[in-house]
Amino acid sequence: MSEWEKFLPKPTEDTEPYWDYCRKQELRMQKCKGCGLVRFPPSVICPRCWSLGHEWVKLSGRGKVWSWVIFHQAFYPGYADDVPYNTAIIELEEGPRLHANVIGCRNEEIYIEMPVEVAFEKVDDEVTLPKFRPVLS
Ligand SMILES: [Zn+2]
Repeated sequence: MSEWEKFLPKPTEDTEPYWDYCRKQELRMQKCKGCGLVRFPPSVICPRCWSLGHEWVKLSGRGKVWSWVIFHQAFYPGYADDVPYNTAIIELEEGPRLHANVIGCRNEEIYIEMPVEVAFEKVDDEVTLPKFRPVLS
């Protein structure tokens, strides 16, 4: 099954820097210059203090599994070869949560608060996706 039959991000004016950094294999998010909140998804204004000022800061790439699900049915043909596959919510050390796949382990090994780190997966010349793999302690 072809990769392009899966859903891929369509960057907007607000999210384009995030995806540009992912292509460089850097996990960066906006940090508010007013209150210091690291926020995701990207936005023009801080949801906490309404400041317009921000900078794109490089994150540690570390976090933990906050929740996850296993898909046993392909709802779209592009995912038929992947089932069963996981989709997780990763809580980053800096606070934001994002959806991503956990790679590098079996689905049965995923658990709440599992320590993970980012592992970028290049899809094509335009898109690189942040995924997360277990951190072995
Ligand atoms: Zn703020």
